[in-house]
Parts: sequence; C-alpha cells; structure tokens
Amino acid sequence: MSSGPIGIFGGTFNPIHYGHLRSALEIRERLGLAEVRLMPSARPPHRSAPDCSIAERLEMVRLAVAGEPGLACDDRETLRAGPSYSVDSIRELRQEVGPETSLCLVMGADALLGLADWHQWQLLTDYAHLVVIARPGWHFPSSGAVADWLQPLLCEQVDELLGRPAGNVHLLQLRPLDISSTEIRELIAAGRSPRYLLPDPVWSRIRSAGLYGYNQAAQT
Ligand code: ATP
Repeated sequence: MSSGPIGIFGGTFNPIHYGHLRSALEIRERLGLAEVRLMPSARPPHRSAPDCSIAERLEMVRLAVAGEPGLACDDRETLRAGPSYSVDSIRELRQEVGPETSLCLVMGADALLGLADWHQWQLLTDYAHLVVIARPGWHFPSSGAVADWLQPLLCEQVDELLGRPAGNVHLLQLRPLDISSTEIRELIAAGRSPRYLLPDPVWSRIRSAGLYGYNQAAQT
C-alpha cells in the first residue's frame, strides 16, 4: 500500500532517454506524487516488436532511475505473457494500492492521439487518471473519438484531481525536450554519439551490449 498518489509512465523505452526522465521528474514535482514508476512494455500491442529485448530495455530503465528518489521501475509487464495491455497493468496496480490511492497514468500527446487503438481504452479511467504531457511536434487532439471522450473528463486543478482516485484527464505542459528513442537509435546505427540525450550508464550499457547496431570496433 502506498502512502501517496502514484504516477505510472508506460513506454517501449527503446532506449530510455532524458525526454522520459525529465518529464517523469517534473510530473512528480508538479503533481506532488509520491513516486513515478516507469513501466517498460514487453510486447507493445500497437507497434512492431522492438529490436532490443525486454530484458535489455528493463535493465536500461533500472540503470536510468538508480539513485533518483521518487522514480522507480515497474517490471509487471515483463512478467505477464501475451500483449502488454496498459488496462491490465493499471487494473492490477489498482488492486494492489486499494480503492483510495490516486493513480495517474502518464502518456505523451503522441500516445494520446493513438489512444482509440488501445485495448479497452475507455476503461483506463475506471482505474486511474490520465495525465497527458505535451511533446514537441505533437498537439492534443481537438476532434475525433478521443477528443470527444476526454472533454467531459478534463480536470485542470491538481488538488481536485488528486482528491479522487481515478476518472479524470489532466493536460500538462512541461519543459519541451525534443528527444526520441527513434533518433537515438538512428544516431547509434549511423556511428554517431547520442551522448547527453540519455544517461551515461544507459549509453555505456548500449555500447557494452552492442545494441542498436553499435559497433565496438569502429566506434570508440
Ligand atoms: P520511439 O521514438 O521509439 O517511438 P519514444 O521516444 O516516443 O520512442 P516511447 O518509449 O515510445 O519513446 O515513449 C513512452 C512515453 O513517453 C510515450 O507516452 C511518449 O509519448 C512519451 N515520450 C517520449 N519521449 C518524450 C519526450 N521527449 N517528451 C515528452 N514525452 C515523451
């Protein structure tokens, strides 16, 4: 049982970068959450299988949050068979924390735009609030099924939001960091350095394991 509201930030984290980490830290501070858990998806249902194993992606998330109080790694999706549906994870987490703790499922604006393709997406707010963060190059949806669904659920006031365990959508503008895992993978594959876009221990791990086409012989 947790002593305060919890944020849960799912993603492929292929690899984890400062866009994820800085957002997680700012969300924790802005909302006053007890902790934000980064939850790597073992088998993301909406995209082709990541080239990097879940064991490696999980290890990189662990390295990235080590020593940062208030950020944690949640490995539940790596322990379940089948597709990693967020609704299953959030339902499971709700059972663990009990009916009163506020849960905030965090996603970027790009993820929100594709929400209608998620398994049982309208049930997510039965178990948690959705906290949606702006992301450079993306906008919050203004029309369509997701926009219509979230309009009556919008809640701007943080104390109101966290006064309830679940059920609302909160849009948040954070420091914009134009970093993506795709760009990091492309840099590495092209023999260029992704340093300062992600934590050094993660970059070290990528090099020692030869991930994303990193070639030890050619790149030092
Ligand atoms: P890829 O480039 O492989 O699609 P990504 O950088 O988008 O990866 P994901 O692991 O897919 O990273 O993202 C996990 C979550 O983090 C998503 O909800 C996404 O919107 C959000 N996110 C990723 N990068 C940023 C960023 N720079 N700023 C804000 N949110 C981000």
